[in-house]
Amino acid sequence: MSKPHPEPVRIAIVGAGNVGATTAYALLLSGLPAEIVLLDAERSKAEGQAMDLNHAQPFAHPTRIWAGDYEDCAGAAIVIVAAGTNQKAGENRMDLVKKNASIFRKIIPEVARYAANAILVIATNPVDVLTYASWKLSGFPPSRVIGSGTILDTARFRYLLGEHFGIDPQSVHAYIIGEHGDSEVPVWSLANIAGIRLQEFCQHEDLPYDEKAMQSISRQTRTAGYDIVRLKGATDYGVATGVVRIVEAILRDENTLLTISSPTQHYGISEVCLSLPTKVNRNGADHILHLPLNEEELSGLVTSAGIVKAAIATLNLDSNQEAVA
Ligand code: NAD
Repeated sequence: MSKPHPEPVRIAIVGAGNVGATTAYALLLSGLPAEIVLLDAERSKAEGQAMDLNHAQPFAHPTRIWAGDYEDCAGAAIVIVAAGTNQKAGENRMDLVKKNASIFRKIIPEVARYAANAILVIATNPVDVLTYASWKLSGFPPSRVIGSGTILDTARFRYLLGEHFGIDPQSVHAYIIGEHGDSEVPVWSLANIAGIRLQEFCQHEDLPYDEKAMQSISRQTRTAGYDIVRLKGATDYGVATGVVRIVEAILRDENTLLTISSPTQHYGISEVCLSLPTKVNRNGADHILHLPLNEEELSGLVTSAGIVKAAIATLNLDSNQEAVA
């Protein structure tokens, strides 16, 4: 007897702006989904993006792409949320919290209603706070609520380290953990190339270990988002590619370790979402690793958790009433 055909993989994207549309484009090029539905409060924008993306299909993969409504999230394996306001020059990510949380109070219950079995992937900033809000507003298990978190910061960190050492960033193993924001924590104590810690790597390769250059790499990683916003008004390629990497790890059941944001219980930290290396597979955020951090990194992580938690507290999520701004 022939096997029944599996359902086509549908991915819904709520918010068809810079991040949402670039994610849709990267998904189309990846060939991972059979269907991409775009939702936006500005319907014509979603329609325009869908039309434009459809014209890239003949060069990419056959994919059904359309502008839809919440009903179209039904059956979606993954719902990506990139709706909301973005940072303007001079703003930090936390400045967006009230406005975007208010938008999420409308979006997430609708998504949960139509796509009760989906995995949520949140990109909107402040992403850790909104991942937590999405967890509470959806009622989904924690494994099915993922924030893009520091996947982007980790990529920026690896890129800069790769440039510095003249090594492909994919061969550099180093993580940024904590908040996707100003309090993020670079885990220098475990950073390595081919399993060799960086200082030792320099000794073997007869290179100076330049502490100042390392500090500059931490700083550039932390401020990259601000620099890109100042230069081009928004950031999209890095985050979109990171989101597609999360989607790929889920759909291909990869057990890949990614620094995504999810509700954590490690290091005595709880009731907050932040990023730690997490095993991502068909269940979503399946298992969070416990890194052997040094004292400075641990204290940085605890501070980072406190900052995210304080922002969460302003939202009054438990009462489901909007806090007065
Ligand atoms: P954008 O303004 O280009 O797009 C946002 C879209 O959301 C707009 O099209 C808007 O119409 C839509 N929208 C607003 N309210 C909505 C609602 N209730 N329902 C559906 N759609 C709604 O912004 P952008 O540059 O794409 O940024 C989107 C978000 O992603 C921002 O919060 C930004 O800070 C964040 N971001 C996150 C990362 C990351 O690493 N996580 C990186 C870059 C940007």
